[in-house]
Amino acid sequence: MLFENLDIIKPIQKALKEEGYSKPTPIQAKSIPHLLEGKDLLGCAQTGTGKTASFAIPILQAIYNDQKSSIGKRTIKAVVLAPTRELAIQIGESFTAYSKHMDIKNIVIFGGVSQNPQTKALKEGVDILIATPGRMLDLYSQKFINLSKVKYFVLDEADSMLDMGMIHDVKRIISHLPKVRQNIFFSATMPSEISKLANSIFKDPIKVEVTPVASTTETIKQSMYFVSKKQKRALLIDILKDKSIKSALVFSRTKHGANKITTDLLNVGIEASAIHGNKSQNARQLALNNFKEGKVRVLVATDIAARGIDVDELSHVINYDLPEVAETYVHRIGRTGRAGHSGTAMSFCSMEERDLYKSIEKLIKKKIELIKDHPYHGSSNDVSQLEPKKDNRRDNRGSSKRNTSSKGNNKNWNSNRRKKPANKKTDNK
Ligand code: AMP
Repeated sequence: MLFENLDIIKPIQKALKEEGYSKPTPIQAKSIPHLLEGKDLLGCAQTGTGKTASFAIPILQAIYNDQKSSIGKRTIKAVVLAPTRELAIQIGESFTAYSKHMDIKNIVIFGGVSQNPQTKALKEGVDILIATPGRMLDLYSQKFINLSKVKYFVLDEADSMLDMGMIHDVKRIISHLPKVRQNIFFSATMPSEISKLANSIFKDPIKVEVTPVASTTETIKQSMYFVSKKQKRALLIDILKDKSIKSALVFSRTKHGANKITTDLLNVGIEASAIHGNKSQNARQLALNNFKEGKVRVLVATDIAARGIDVDELSHVINYDLPEVAETYVHRIGRTGRAGHSGTAMSFCSMEERDLYKSIEKLIKKKIELIKDHPYHGSSNDVSQLEPKKDNRRDNRGSSKRNTSSKGNNKNWNSNRRKKPANKKTDNK
């Protein structure tokens, strides 16, 4: 399948070629034909699948074709809502790249920065508005945004909008849109509230799905390190001292944690910056750009800040803390191994996180390789309790007592394992 076979117009084809895209990704091949026909679409796809181009290409093509008959000032014809500023910026960059041989303007608006440049650009006229919901509603209520000519509406990463409590704002925005329009939703998972919303506004939608959230990309090598909370820092430093790790996105559960990890890394001479919601928009953008350009090797992020971050050829994702929600694991590791590149995802699991680890394996229906051969198991009792016992790692928590009494240092652990070849199978879970 080639882009030519999808009936994509020449100026877009040219731009895609210049972007280095040789053929459509599966989600593009599945979505673009329906979207070009003007159908509503409900897409289940995570970041990294090429979903942005899936909706950007048909929208640009439709606007381009409409332009022939339109006259007068530019008006907003498409609205794309995204949950985070970073994702909105990336979507804007994609629209700009794909429309470089056309006279179509997009604007990205988001909160946390002055509204003046945004309102100025809106006054000058744009064709495509990409926005986070809060700022969009704000500017709409100030009458800077005219939605009366909108024909295309996209909700990207709908599930994270729900997670982040934005769904009410999204519904308000939808209520201001013209009734006749094409609707496109993309979501990595399909919680009932999202399908309910979709059902309430869609007309007979086409449903497309690629890489279900539970099946993590084959190109990502995944591993799990059992390590006590206290030893995580030392393990991370040890891993990152390996210069062959070209770029690593490290996930921390909290903003404070992200700052602390960054400081720890900087203290031992590892270039790192943090990206999270307490940083100003400019600081976040600077950190992201430095990381993208390879000036900083390690970016430490919280989930919300990292959502949608698209870094070409990111080699490593490190889960310093396991996520509370198993689906988030899939989103996180999906930052690497993109567009066919190989990637590595390493996760640290402390005693307290053992259940999270189990729920991740349950979700992805796959065993994650356990790395035991590292010096940071520590000798504390809590780490010994992480030890997967024969046939009991899934549900027998009673084993932890036995383990504690063994004092469970790394040496004991390994020698025990060697004496029990019958356990070998569980070792590699
Ligand atoms: P997305 O899932 O939209 O965030 O896209 C993930 C990455 O894949 C981005 O870096 C895109 O530039 C890239 N990409 C999208 N479509 C293609 C394609 N057809 N061929 C190669 N790379 C692509």
